[in-house]
Amino acid sequence: MTRIDALLARGITTSFEFFPPQTDAGERHLRDALNELEPLGPSFVSVTYGAGGSTRERTHRLVVDVLERTTMTPMAHLTAVDHRRDELTAILAAYRDAGVENVLALRGDPPRGSGPDEVFWEFEHAVELAALVREVGGDRIAVGVAAHPEGHPLSPDLPSDRRHLAAKLAIADFAVTQFFFDVQDYVRMVEELAQLGCDKPVVPGIMPVTNVRQIERFAELSGAAFPSALADRLHAVEHEPAEVRRIGVEVATQLCADLLASGAPGLHFYTLNRSTATREIHANLGLHPGASAA
Ligand SMILES: Cc1cc2nc3c(=O)[nH]c(=O)nc-3n(C[C@H](O)[C@H](O)[C@H](O)COP(=O)(O)OP(=O)(O)OC[C@H]3O[C@@H](n4cnc5c(N)ncnc54)[C@H](O)[C@@H]3O)c2cc1C
Repeated sequence: MTRIDALLARGITTSFEFFPPQTDAGERHLRDALNELEPLGPSFVSVTYGAGGSTRERTHRLVVDVLERTTMTPMAHLTAVDHRRDELTAILAAYRDAGVENVLALRGDPPRGSGPDEVFWEFEHAVELAALVREVGGDRIAVGVAAHPEGHPLSPDLPSDRRHLAAKLAIADFAVTQFFFDVQDYVRMVEELAQLGCDKPVVPGIMPVTNVRQIERFAELSGAAFPSALADRLHAVEHEPAEVRRIGVEVATQLCADLLASGAPGLHFYTLNRSTATREIHANLGLHPGASAA
């Protein structure tokens, strides 16, 4: 049994997120990252789901590949945007029949340049997809959902975002968060969920900074605050990639330590299909191969 809710019940998890590459060079980077991170014995690895037909098929192929050819447990991301209910049902049935036991149910975003009204949404919110995963997967698929510690950028206010998250978690088994840099954003979110009667595990997402401009772009898109003190420190060494990574790893290591001390049930690393920063943080924290799921 490799359902993530069962793994979380056994102890602290570590997990790594990858995206399906679109080029041969990207494919090589991904293979290297998977080969270099597998020996760390992650509790699970997750594969993102993008816009567009061929990218979507790549997610399925990569998830099944991880399941069949590695020792790692995969989690498939799936987004509701631009899909009919019957298409989503077919994708979920294919995962279930292939033996995939974990799905992250997401709303997704309209493709860049198109507004929400130009996109087809049979399911307007991720909560409806989470319910469909439950319906199709029964007890064979654990359901994860996304959480946004600083609130989703489209939310009119934080309390309504928390209420919608609690409603989503009432159906799902666990959540994984958007990246953030201040441990207090995570702690506050967990406390506010508890006040709403929700105690499902919420795994924090960690984005080690390895490229300042890239993280600033991601932060802008996701609504995560990029602390100005950290930005200043990184901009000062912007043209020294090794130094940027050293600072990024140092900051992420401290955040992970603070999160574990505050009771986080696991650590989910956004790898961007590279292994070095994640391996260094793992080593700094003294996490041993396979220890996470013990
Ligand atoms: C861990 C993680 C992984 C991700 N992976 C991917 C990926 O693989 N592919 C991809 O395209 N994107 C991915 N995303 C991005 C995600 O699709 C976007 O952040 C998207 O804008 C919101 O997704 P959601 O599932 O949180 O949406 P929802 O839960 O639907 O929330 C979206 C907004 O609607 C509000 N809301 C929710 N329910 C209701 C309701 N019933 N009534 C009114 N308002 C409501 C929420 O408060 C929020 O403001 C990921 C995000 C995270 C955190």
